[in-house]
Amino acid sequence: MSDCVFCRIVNGQIPSTKVHEDRLTLAFMDIGQVNPGHVLVAAKPHVENIYGLDDALAAAVFQTAARVARAVKKAYTPEGVTLYQANGAAAGQTVYHFHLHLIPRYDKDGMHLTWPAKNPPREQLEVNAAKLRAALE
Ligand code: 5GP
Ligand code: ZN
Repeated sequence: MSDCVFCRIVNGQIPSTKVHEDRLTLAFMDIGQVNPGHVLVAAKPHVENIYGLDDALAAAVFQTAARVARAVKKAYTPEGVTLYQANGAAAGQTVYHFHLHLIPRYDKDGMHLTWPAKNPPREQLEVNAAKLRAALE
């Protein structure tokens, strides 16, 4: 995908600041740096979002995420680390090539995700889960 910015990074057509690379994944610094040490872990093949990951690629991405998270913890000793991964515009995705964010976190660092929990009754959880179980079949 020649018009995809992350494909161009993976192919070396535009520069990036790399942290880790293997056959299926590339970890590099997010240009925006929400906090210092903010890393993106991208799939090397052009896959738009999580729905397109096969098992091997999904495993490789999370293996790299866990490795880099340990490095972020060691190098920056943050108070926490947030994994953020968006699929679709409504979820906040802006680059349509699968990636996840590893963001070192600190108390009152200004990053917010509102969490409007509805706390439905268990019967509603059963209805919601049944719909998903049917979709998994
Ligand atoms: P999304 O909202 O899709 O999860 O996040 C896309 C991220 O890609 C943003 O945090 C943005 O800063 C980062 N980004 C966009 N273009 C580039 C680029 O050319 N190089 C790097 N290193 N990061 C980029
Ligand atoms: Zn791409």
